[in-house]
Amino acid sequence: MPSHFKYPPDKDLRRLLRFEPDSGAIWLGELRMLLMHTSALAGLRQDLIGSVGASHAKRILTRMGYASGLSDAAYAIKLRPNESLQASFLVGPQLHMLEGAARVTPTKLDFDVASGQFHGEFRWDQSWEAHAHRQKYGTVDEPACWTALGYASGYTSAFMGRLILFKETRCAACGADHCQIEGRPIEEWPDGEEHRLYFNEDSLMEKMVALQSQIEALKSTFEPATLGGHLIGNSTAFRKAYALMEKAARTQVTVLLTGETGVGKERFARALHQLSTRQKGPFVAVNCAALPAELIEAELFGVEKGAYTGAHASRAGRFERADGGTLLLDEVGELPLAAQAKLLRALQEGEIERVGGEAARPINIRLLAATNVDLEKAVREGRFRRDLWYRLNVYPICLPPLRERVADIALLADAMLARFCALHDKRLSGFAERALQALEKHDWPGNVRELENLVERGVILASQGGMIQLEDLFPNVPDAGQISLDAHGKLANLPRSHDDDLSERILNSGSSLDEIETRALNYAVAHARGNLSEAARMLGLSRAQLAYRQKRSNTNAAESKLDPADRSERLP
Ligand SMILES: [Zn+2]
Repeated sequence: MPSHFKYPPDKDLRRLLRFEPDSGAIWLGELRMLLMHTSALAGLRQDLIGSVGASHAKRILTRMGYASGLSDAAYAIKLRPNESLQASFLVGPQLHMLEGAARVTPTKLDFDVASGQFHGEFRWDQSWEAHAHRQKYGTVDEPACWTALGYASGYTSAFMGRLILFKETRCAACGADHCQIEGRPIEEWPDGEEHRLYFNEDSLMEKMVALQSQIEALKSTFEPATLGGHLIGNSTAFRKAYALMEKAARTQVTVLLTGETGVGKERFARALHQLSTRQKGPFVAVNCAALPAELIEAELFGVEKGAYTGAHASRAGRFERADGGTLLLDEVGELPLAAQAKLLRALQEGEIERVGGEAARPINIRLLAATNVDLEKAVREGRFRRDLWYRLNVYPICLPPLRERVADIALLADAMLARFCALHDKRLSGFAERALQALEKHDWPGNVRELENLVERGVILASQGGMIQLEDLFPNVPDAGQISLDAHGKLANLPRSHDDDLSERILNSGSSLDEIETRALNYAVAHARGNLSEAARMLGLSRAQLAYRQKRSNTNAAESKLDPADRSERLP
């Protein structure tokens, strides 16, 4: 391509571009366009890179450019039907310039549509993308004109009717004074196949689920070592549940573990597996609530390559991975109805089919299910299949909440203390009496898991060599120095005694609550020698709250001088 290269006139392209501010639209022929700030797009790029990483951001933006290129290719043939093929092809670079991507100069262009042969090289000056990238990240090592490169690939592929891959051989984002790109059929690039991925839709979601199951597998490798693999408890409620579990372990029966969130259903399931004849086989746990609904069937039953967009390879599901062992379906009540039907079929037939697959695969698993919702109610409300519920509910074990296992709290807390001391490299001699008392009196809405979190925090906060104190366990209670247990044994931010006689004295004083509040406010202000911030602190109020209450108490005082009937009407 000679250096004095000249484009065909682009009047035909300019005519395509119409601004219709009255209807709020910009058009390129029949395609709606958008005029937006490169700075905004640059911000989006940066967010994308920050949230999914440069490699994923590159794929997403390349695909976006590819889609634009494909759309613009429609004009190549339409606009210049009677001119040379080269003039038709140049519609792409010329539109790309009109759209503001860069100044494009062909330096080599050699193609033959009939045989599919293509080799093109272009110079880009003033690439907006290189400029934006450099502004955010300085000079980088890798070319950065991802959208523009996707455009070149998309446009040329559509024009040639085969996948033409463009690469950026130099880029202004890397410090060059311009960018240079080169395009060839993808098969002619030695590493072409790696780049094909850039044009596939890819699913981050799927990757995250795969990572999650890896983490679960790793966790189950570590768990026995850290937990000693056994369950801790001596309370009546615990012993009852444990005995039921021990009996079930010797059989192959399907067990349904019920109980509140955090009672340790997965640990029970694991213990059951350890006590069963399948203990040498795998233990696989799936949290049905943590999987996105559209991936749940693929996760459970596996998937064949190409079953849906993003399924780039065949893989086994959790059922297959649990073969010969135990499969726990946690939060089974969250399974969508379609997956429930498939699960029921698998249990009835003893075999599964991968998503997008034909062959039935026999499975040999012991199924455990766990739920913290009332499945019977879900059945009544039509959210859970009755026939599946019957299948799962053969041998239900209800795990008691921690507040019904008060006798176990000290045992559990000690075991957790030992574990977290090892993990965080701490030497502690136990729990202070008041701390233990608070643990036993706490309500435990989050059950064993909540206890575990509190103990871990306590281990971290306690001073080396000492004991875990009350305020190490409940550091968020305001003014930890004054925390104590109230008359009912609950944590409270009041002095432990006297509060009852204080109330009694107030009731006997004959004063109204408003008057008492006013007196308390005045007392605090006087005690703080007029320093309102300090008075507010003494009362546990913000400065603004104190000011508000003072104002209200002045108004009340004024109103109390009015006719009582008039006053009562103003009360809400
Ligand atoms: Zn570049």
